Amino acid sequence: MKDDWIVEYNKWDPKDHPLQEALCTLGNGYFCTRAALEFARDNDYNYPGTYLAGGYNRLKSIIKDKEIENEDLVNWPNWLYLTFRIGDGKWLDLSNVEILEYKTNLHLREGLLERRIRFRDDKKRITTLVSYRIVSMHDYHVGAIEWTLTPENWSGTITVRSGIDGNIINNNVARYRQLNQDHIEVLERDSFADQNIFLLSRTRQSKILIAQAARLQVYKNGDALELQQKVIRKKGFIAGDIKIKCKEKESIKIEKLVSLFTSRDFAISDPLTEAKTKIQRIKCFPFLLTKHILSWSQYWEYADIDLNSHFEDQVILRLHIFHLYQTVSKNSIGYDIGIPARGWHGEAYRGHIFWDEIYILPFINLHHPELAKSLLMYRYRRLPEAYEAAREIGCRGALFPWQSGSNGREETQKLHLNPKSGRWLPDVSHLQYHINSAVPLNVWHYYQSTGDIDFLVAHGAEIIIATALFWSSIANYNSERGRYEIHRVMGPDEYHTHYPDSDEPGLNNNAYTNIMAVWVIQRALELLQVLDKATWIDLEEKIGFTEDDIELWKEITRKMYVPFHDGDIIMQFEGFEQLEELDWEYYREKYGEHLRLDRILESENDSPNRYKASKQADVLMLFYIFSSTELEKLFKKLNYDFDPESIPRNIRYYEKRTAHGSTLSQVIHAWVYARSHRELSWKSFKKALMSDFKDVQGGTTHEGIHLGAMAGTMDLIQRCYSGLDIRDNVLWLNPSLPKDIQSMKFHVRFRGHWICLEIDHQKLRIRFDKGWADPVTIGFRDKTYLFKKNDTKEFEL
Ligand code: BGC
Repeated sequence: MKDDWIVEYNKWDPKDHPLQEALCTLGNGYFCTRAALEFARDNDYNYPGTYLAGGYNRLKSIIKDKEIENEDLVNWPNWLYLTFRIGDGKWLDLSNVEILEYKTNLHLREGLLERRIRFRDDKKRITTLVSYRIVSMHDYHVGAIEWTLTPENWSGTITVRSGIDGNIINNNVARYRQLNQDHIEVLERDSFADQNIFLLSRTRQSKILIAQAARLQVYKNGDALELQQKVIRKKGFIAGDIKIKCKEKESIKIEKLVSLFTSRDFAISDPLTEAKTKIQRIKCFPFLLTKHILSWSQYWEYADIDLNSHFEDQVILRLHIFHLYQTVSKNSIGYDIGIPARGWHGEAYRGHIFWDEIYILPFINLHHPELAKSLLMYRYRRLPEAYEAAREIGCRGALFPWQSGSNGREETQKLHLNPKSGRWLPDVSHLQYHINSAVPLNVWHYYQSTGDIDFLVAHGAEIIIATALFWSSIANYNSERGRYEIHRVMGPDEYHTHYPDSDEPGLNNNAYTNIMAVWVIQRALELLQVLDKATWIDLEEKIGFTEDDIELWKEITRKMYVPFHDGDIIMQFEGFEQLEELDWEYYREKYGEHLRLDRILESENDSPNRYKASKQADVLMLFYIFSSTELEKLFKKLNYDFDPESIPRNIRYYEKRTAHGSTLSQVIHAWVYARSHRELSWKSFKKALMSDFKDVQGGTTHEGIHLGAMAGTMDLIQRCYSGLDIRDNVLWLNPSLPKDIQSMKFHVRFRGHWICLEIDHQKLRIRFDKGWADPVTIGFRDKTYLFKKNDTKEFEL
């Protein structure tokens, strides 16, 4: 890579294509389209995937004689389809031609996908095809392709075919292929108004309508050609063929413009009417591109992180920022969508929303608070399902699902396939009730960054209090210990689901879960002290908490049980220290550094449940979420001796026993080492940074990016290495850069101000942009300073 705004691939290898296809996905927060080749269909290396943000559908399948239902992110008809042939020759297919040059450039600044292919066919004709593609950030109902086709040593007539292909299913994830994946039916397709075609389809169960319309335009020497289109209608497919006379060395430009509307859109009559109208209104590719670039430049102005480090780090960090805004952007605001763990980039985890929001929202909070609020509203609207979920397991309050999709029902699959053993196994990961602390934590972080008390009162408070009530109702009192306990749950470490030799799923007293529960309850108590009477009464009524509950909450914040062993090591869950040690050396040697131990051990008829081996950071999450002072306070209240000096010992203990089988894990390890061991922090940062680009989790990125790890690396720069922490309305800074970062510069939005932070090893420079918000307080090394618009200050480090 030569330019730190361009991700480059310079070689054609079908094996690498699926990964590039996911990493070069284009999107605008409303829909995303993978970087599939326009002229190829779903095959061994090419997978055209277009996903609507939050576009789910449920289907039933029979597995092991049992009916199961899954809700998937639907792959929509392929709008990319564009191909050509010379004379009566074969349609373009890379496996039938000799590839002389192949290049893909993803231009991050412009949001533009460029592909150059020079090839020789069986008649020795050489053609160069340059393709530009956008998914418009400016007009989010529009996608467009521009081809420049140059016959290098031949002249002749070509046929260009531009279509919309509804003959697709969800087929991106091999391990889901035994399940029913036929999500859409094509209702109508035809041509209209001369050169235009449309296709209207609908999801089978959720009945979302999607209308796509397309227009083809051809230019020679800058002049638009009059075209005669022959319409091709096949089952579920519509296309237009046009014939163009080509002359040796004379380039022609072919534009395919596409509009896309759904029945979930705002301010529409019906999706087909809108798609048809839009396609007749949009002009040409260069016009769309100019506006699209302008929109992207508005994002980059404040979202970019200028990292003076190794060259590659800068590009990859920008790639992460790019994918975040392609998944959720200003275009998503108001739509009822959450942030999917794998982006809208592929079909793994079915586009579901997990606790990964914890890693993603802090960046959005400090850049686009309106967007953050919209994403939190996705959770708020699903409280009714969450109340029901709590009730179903005999609890009170609200329990958010581990995997959330359309209506907030628990979407975790009941059975999953271990591709290593070929066995379908029960999936109990819905027992990760710790999601029920992640959601209120996100509400709280949003409130701290924005001071948006109105949101807190109108929506956030219900989430916090209802989840607190869940925690107090699931906790039971152990009179022998004189403490409250939480049983039969899973912590973030997904390798531990059962006690060895037990058929009952779940573990007791996962330390992370118990401490987070206390934290949520504390926030609920804090809120109740300030809530106005009307809101209190309203929430009391809705949530059903009583004075007795409040008393119980106070007691739990003093008496929750937290397991320890060897003095001051926080035990991941009760019984963890009795498990066997794993022979890490043996497994690492045999399977490499990134161990999917669950799959490996199960295929060996063993189980990670027997070992002190965690998939990902679990106890260490506590040192990521809380400062040592906050933790000390929490433990003190619980009447445990907790010495912050023990943190490094805890980190060392778990580092040795963590497989990093989730990309999220390295983010946490980078975070917890940031102050005590800068080199190790940097090592983990690099691993997290490269996890998708290098596809380290054994080839999973082609099924969707890992947005949690991507945003996690951005947040490591934003909050961790800068030491940014918001407490009591003050934005504190305490930078400590790893030595591989010479300097960094980025913006954060705090209480209506854009603040530019420039940090190196000697100084911290704080510059306030112009604006109209009131002065705010910035803290640096125990002192606070009032800043107003246009202020600049520099501090020696
Ligand atoms: C991780 C979870 C995560 C999920 C989605 C799993 O592999 O263990 O913590 O939420 O992926 O990213």
